[in-house]
Amino acid sequence: MPLHLVTVPCLSDNYAFVVHDSETGATLLVDIPEAQPILDACCERGWALTDILITHHHGDHIQGLAAVLARHDTARVIGAAADAHRLPPLTRGVAEGDTFDFACHDIQVLDVSGHTLGHVAYYMPALGAVFTGDSLMTLGCGRLFEGDAPTMYASLQKLAALPPDTRVGSGHDYTAGNAKFALTIEPDNPALIARDKAFAQARALAQPTSPSLLSDELATNPFLRAHLPGVKARLSLQDKTDPEVFGAIRALKDRF
Ligand SMILES: [Zn+2]
Repeated sequence: MPLHLVTVPCLSDNYAFVVHDSETGATLLVDIPEAQPILDACCERGWALTDILITHHHGDHIQGLAAVLARHDTARVIGAAADAHRLPPLTRGVAEGDTFDFACHDIQVLDVSGHTLGHVAYYMPALGAVFTGDSLMTLGCGRLFEGDAPTMYASLQKLAALPPDTRVGSGHDYTAGNAKFALTIEPDNPALIARDKAFAQARALAQPTSPSLLSDELATNPFLRAHLPGVKARLSLQDKTDPEVFGAIRALKDRF
C-alpha cells in the first residue's frame, strides 16, 4: 500500500490529516487549524505538500493556510466552489459529484451541508478513508449552524452509505462529551459501552480518536441511529420520521 495516513492534532481539540503517496511523493493535507504541527509532521518525514483540501470555512479549519503555503508554495488549494467567497483563494473549486485526481487516485466530493452550507467531505476509495470535517465526527456530528436537521440528516446518510470499513477522519476530538451523551440515548448498547472505555484509554495515552471506522460509527453514533425503533421508543418519538428524530437528538445534544 503506497498510501500513508497521518493524523495531526492541532490547537486544543482539532485534527488535520496528511496523506502521502510513497510512489509519487504526492502529499495531501486536509484542513489547516494551525500551521506548526502540520509543518513539523511534513518536515519530520521529508514530505512536501502538493494538495491542500478544505472542508469548510470556519477559522479553526483554514487559519493556518497562509503559513503552510509560505513553506509549501506550489500546493494547490481545493475547496467548495459554493463557498469560494468565504474561503481563502482556491486553485480549484469543487462540488457534489466531482472527482479529482491525487497521485493517480480518485478523490470524490460529497456535499455534507448542515454544520455549514457548502461543507464538503472528501472520499478516497484507494485509501479507504473519508475526510468529514465537522459533519460526521467520532461518536457525534457537528452543530447545525447554517443548515437544518433534514439537510444534515441527508448529509450523514451519504456518509453512512460508504463501505463499512471506511476510515472516518473528522475535524475534532469531542469523544469525552460525545460518549457521555451517546450513553444517555443508548445506555445498554454494549458496543457503545466498550467504545467509551476504549476512548478513555486512548485519551489517557494522548492517542488520536480519529480516524474511526465507519462500522463503529454505525453501531454506536447516536446521529446515525435515529432510524432504530429502540432509539425512537426511548425518546418517545415512535411516530416521528427519521430526520425528525435526528433533529430531536441534535437538539438534546445542544443542551447537554
Ligand atoms: Zn466548523
